[in-house]
Amino acid sequence: MLDLDIKIIKTENPKEKPTDESTLGFGKIFSDHMFIVEYTEGIGWHDARIQPYGPLAIDPASPVLHYSQEIFEGLKVYRRADGGIQMFRPIENARRMNRSAERMVMPQLDEEFQVKAMKMLAEVEQDWVPTREGTSLYLRPTMIAHGAELGVHPAHKYLYYIICSPAGSYYKNGMSPIKIHIEDSYVRAVKGGTGAAKTGGNYSASLKAAYEASKRGFDQVLWLDGKQNKYVEEVGAMNMMFIIDHKLYTAPTGGSILPGITRKSVLRLAEDMGIEVFERPVSVMELYEAYSKGTLQEAFGTGTAAVISPVGLMEYRGDIIKLSDGEIGPIAMAIYNKLTGIQRGNEPDLYNWIERVK
Ligand SMILES: *Cc1c(COP(=O)(O)O)cnc(C)c1O
Repeated sequence: MLDLDIKIIKTENPKEKPTDESTLGFGKIFSDHMFIVEYTEGIGWHDARIQPYGPLAIDPASPVLHYSQEIFEGLKVYRRADGGIQMFRPIENARRMNRSAERMVMPQLDEEFQVKAMKMLAEVEQDWVPTREGTSLYLRPTMIAHGAELGVHPAHKYLYYIICSPAGSYYKNGMSPIKIHIEDSYVRAVKGGTGAAKTGGNYSASLKAAYEASKRGFDQVLWLDGKQNKYVEEVGAMNMMFIIDHKLYTAPTGGSILPGITRKSVLRLAEDMGIEVFERPVSVMELYEAYSKGTLQEAFGTGTAAVISPVGLMEYRGDIIKLSDGEIGPIAMAIYNKLTGIQRGNEPDLYNWIERVK
């Protein structure tokens, strides 16, 4: 592991913690401390510390502000029934961070060191981990390019930091299925592009389609492949799964899709439940044909924020598909219960997915 001490500088002005855990939203409140480590070309990583949460001082000419040389991750710290806290597969986030870094020509940061930083920060912020069912402390590891240079080339200075935000239950009134618009004019990513990296530009480029769909009453945009506009890929920050004739289908991670850690975990659990899993391209045509034959049983998104997000309605060029009578399907429900059970420590951790903090 990277041999770098992490200094801890505690805040002198702790914030008031939210008292009502039923009204926690997502990403609006931040905890007292953040982790930060700096990179300088020729020196490497240095000055790792946990310090009071606060604004960063970066040069207005920093490459992140002009050319989006930025990557991020998202994972959660859960409160166990015995009062302890734990994380779900953090090493996978650290590995994906490094794969994103490679794509964006940013420096690698030792994966075990990343996990050590997450654990230390989670321990310092343990009182910020909510206890109510469905809640968690969301961690957002981020890497940005800074320094003062406007040339279009990889930067010479980087910051890696982690901030924490207590997150409410994604489902305030029980799990309610979402409405998705299948997008046939805008695209999110193409093979050879940056779709497989968790990098800021992918998300700013997706805002317009999401905004237009939301004006028409849809919750999410389902992206098609950018080349043929034919195969379903993923939604905003979730991978997509379809149950057709009792089998599970999801798009392969061939370069334009973000390889979700929830996706990977769900495929494992589905196989354990005896469900046949196919990672292969699924066309919109195939979905509509299955629907008209009555074999399209369920559709759901998978991602860290919601874990499983059932789809109640899909629309493509004005044609509507309605699923599961507006209820959550039985397979989505079974997988959701199993996975959230493992994450909170109520189900056995058969695959060593859990990293205990305390
Ligand atoms: C983060 C993300 C996902 C889900 O990844 P998880 O590791 O399961 O949280 C899926 N698609 C996109 C575009 C994402 O940014």
